[in-house]
Amino acid sequence: MSRPPLKTVLRKRWTRRDLFKAAPIAVAGAGVLGLSLAGRGEAEVARQRGTCRFCLMRCGVVCTLKDGRLVKVEGDRASKTKGFVCEHGYALRELVHSHERLTHPLVRRGHEFHEVSWDDALGEVARRLEEVKRRHGAEAFAIQTGWPLVRHPLVPFLHRFARAYGSPNVATVASLCEAALRMGQALTVGSKYAPDVRKLRTLVVWGANPPTTAPPFAHVVASKALQGTLIVIDPVRTSLAKEATLHLAIRPGTDGALALGLIHVLLREQRYDADFVSRHTRGFEGLRKLAEQYPPERVEALTSVRASDVERVARMLADGAPTGIWQGLGVEHHENGVQTVRAISSLEVLCGRFDGTHDARSLLSPVTPRFAEEMLPALYRMRTPEPVPPPVAARTLGGERFPLYEVFNREAQGEVLADAILDGKPYPVRALMLWASNALLTASGTQRLAKAAEALELLVTVDPFLSASAQRSDVVLPAATFAESQDIDAEDAQVDARSLVPAQGDSWPDWRILRQLAHAMGLGRYFPWETFHEAMSAPRVAWMEAPSLQPRPEPQVEAPRFGTVSGQAEFASTLLERHGYEPLPAWSAPTEALTPDYPLRLVSGPRPRARINSQFSQSPSITARMREPEALLHPAAASAAGVRHGQRVELVSPYGRIRLRAVVTEDVHPECVVMPAGWAEVNPNLLISDTKRDPISGFPAFRSGVCRVEPLAGS
Ligand code: SF4
Repeated sequence: MSRPPLKTVLRKRWTRRDLFKAAPIAVAGAGVLGLSLAGRGEAEVARQRGTCRFCLMRCGVVCTLKDGRLVKVEGDRASKTKGFVCEHGYALRELVHSHERLTHPLVRRGHEFHEVSWDDALGEVARRLEEVKRRHGAEAFAIQTGWPLVRHPLVPFLHRFARAYGSPNVATVASLCEAALRMGQALTVGSKYAPDVRKLRTLVVWGANPPTTAPPFAHVVASKALQGTLIVIDPVRTSLAKEATLHLAIRPGTDGALALGLIHVLLREQRYDADFVSRHTRGFEGLRKLAEQYPPERVEALTSVRASDVERVARMLADGAPTGIWQGLGVEHHENGVQTVRAISSLEVLCGRFDGTHDARSLLSPVTPRFAEEMLPALYRMRTPEPVPPPVAARTLGGERFPLYEVFNREAQGEVLADAILDGKPYPVRALMLWASNALLTASGTQRLAKAAEALELLVTVDPFLSASAQRSDVVLPAATFAESQDIDAEDAQVDARSLVPAQGDSWPDWRILRQLAHAMGLGRYFPWETFHEAMSAPRVAWMEAPSLQPRPEPQVEAPRFGTVSGQAEFASTLLERHGYEPLPAWSAPTEALTPDYPLRLVSGPRPRARINSQFSQSPSITARMREPEALLHPAAASAAGVRHGQRVELVSPYGRIRLRAVVTEDVHPECVVMPAGWAEVNPNLLISDTKRDPISGFPAFRSGVCRVEPLAGS
């Protein structure tokens, strides 16, 4: 079905001129309101505790409402984040009451969206989904969720809905965020883990930037530079790198080579616990042979980190226990992402990270071989209330191509959606529901995704705003923000289960949308609960799908220590071997080499302090922090390209070109261009290949593309 560009949205959009013209009316209205309030007494003021869910930090907040409007957001000193709120939390007020909020369901008719009732909108979705099932089979429907639903308890209910309909296909933002990290860690030590920063003496922050991604803990991380050792490994000299004991400006995509170089030094200088390694690890001899290929001098040539720094950091890690490594997206957004994570985890094993003397909570211990055999690999064990929807015969999208992604994450790999829609591989997808997701903008393969959106028979978006993806949809369902929904952190005694703010317009909380849609489709028996809290309180049963890739039992292991199949830390991974991958954490260079045509590495996606992915474009206070995305490049690269600081430039890759402003700074690696993602107008995903992926996780190489910079004349 063809989807011409949006012409009309039947809802008033206020321009600056409109606001200027309306200002006297608004002031007069306020006066009337004030008078009437004065006549009735004081305005009603309420304060309520809650949780900010814009990011995974989940800061406690106290919201002040005046006559039902959110007028103030403060940090909750009684919460675990002790009163911290960042600029995004403060911007909640602007987003809740934004004049850009969707207040009614929209259905596309020809070239226009029309406001319709919820009954009509849900009826239309139900009818068209039934039609898709009748014509193509239930597996032709998929749901893709976005960042706001990361680790959100709604997701298992979305799976429940999809399974009740008959489809196995729910994909989350894990398809391109964090899952490769968790998989790499679990393939090595049997579990995901994170450093307990407060207990460490030596902390390595590798491809991460906690001041922007974990702001409440930024000071704890930075304090390691004063109270221990802080090493930052990043092609960008971040604010944290400037505070660090040592910053290694690494060439993007070569982190695995550096990890193997550090292992080389540890082994050469015998700075590891040989007894622990012999008793609790698998594949050490293979790792030794692999690491022999990475002497510091070769590592310097590959990574641009000085050989002396490779040796120095290896010694710091070995001698500065307890040590820990905070890995971020900068490690996993490459074609070699999972193996790079594994190389870093192997390094941590050798540094005594898991010897039980510190931070033992990161281990799945004690672990019995039977447990490992039955439960592995399952980072998420989904549970759902009775009645459990019947099993689905079709295999999850991406399951054939990235089997370990399916096994570890129990969901579809959303990065293959365009293939399913456009090429029918492995089977056709004809209907897609984007739930709190702007995937057409944020996933890799922007051009193909745009074509895929056109080819769908039904595209539905559930979102508080008319996002770039919503604009291409057939039906847009206006979702309430988390502040207008029941607080799912209500088990915290400080938090009230009520919403912080009444739902705006005719927007609905996610739960209500899902429940009512299920009922409209005749699936109400699977969604009997009125509220989300009722649903979450219902007794749940383990919902283990018939595992298509159940690992075979390993021989019994004496006193297994790790949650891997062998019960040991696996330098050589049993599961990788079984699925035909290289079992050792081998490094491979990015397949796109730098050339005279494309002499720079494109690092896209590091989050600035302004937006979180594509969110917050409707917030004036956040937009004021960064009005447009910028391309950071080193003076040497700028000079070679004939580009001045502040000049508008074109970034050109083999796949596309975009225009933006150049910022010339010595804070980036000389071979790099670094830019954020999430801007519809200037989308770096137009420059990234959607075929160059990590073969284990399916992750795109967002941070090791290639490009050149061209100055724009007259700018
Ligand atoms: S760090 Fe900011 S965005 Fe994240 S939960 Fe806290 S206040 Fe919200």
